[in-house]
Amino acid sequence: MFNLILFGPPGSGKGTQSEKLIERYGLKHISTGDLLRSEIARQTALGQEAQKFMDKGQLVPDEVVIGMISSALDENPQAKGFLFDGFPRTAAQAEALDKLLDLKNSSIAVMLALDVSEDELIKRLEKRGQTSGRSDDTNHQVIKARIVEYHAKTAPVADYYRNFNKVVMIKGEGSIDGIFNGLCTEIDKRLREKQETAPLSGE
Ligand code: AMP
Repeated sequence: MFNLILFGPPGSGKGTQSEKLIERYGLKHISTGDLLRSEIARQTALGQEAQKFMDKGQLVPDEVVIGMISSALDENPQAKGFLFDGFPRTAAQAEALDKLLDLKNSSIAVMLALDVSEDELIKRLEKRGQTSGRSDDTNHQVIKARIVEYHAKTAPVADYYRNFNKVVMIKGEGSIDGIFNGLCTEIDKRLREKQETAPLSGE
């Protein structure tokens, strides 16, 4: 398996780039934000619990999100790899992910971190709010709260993967295709390395 994390603050373009990346590389896209919004739409107990946090721009508790990821991994035994989008968002989630992948004799190949200035993030989120139908994109206070949560709890996740030399920063401003090409260059490099080190048969 080839697993990667697309990392970055809210509004950095993770969703947009994920769609292009899964199409090119045939990875299974796992977005915890999308999974949570689907739980809310289906009015499940998990969704109702999660919504209380999401409406305030706060992170949903780790155990809820880790449980969802565990199920998503188990539901896709044939996946040739996963693209994690919006996950892990805390150090505890990162550790849990490593353990879950380890159980499948797999690991994270690389974390691609999109770098976007704060002014640009706020501009993008407010613009997205006009069309996304997402209540957390329309309220300025909630947008601010999400960015505060990112700096407090999520940014340290990059340090976790930096310890393993797995983080690559990518400039997340400019054209969508330009950013996509930057991401692809890094992925292709790692896929080549993986091929060169793979035993002749199997994984
Ligand atoms: P996103 O679509 O990734 O911007 O996520 C929208 C909201 O869902 C976030 O503001 C959080 O409240 C919640 N959420 C998504 N992913 C996670 C996660 N990995 N851990 C905790 N909360 C999350």
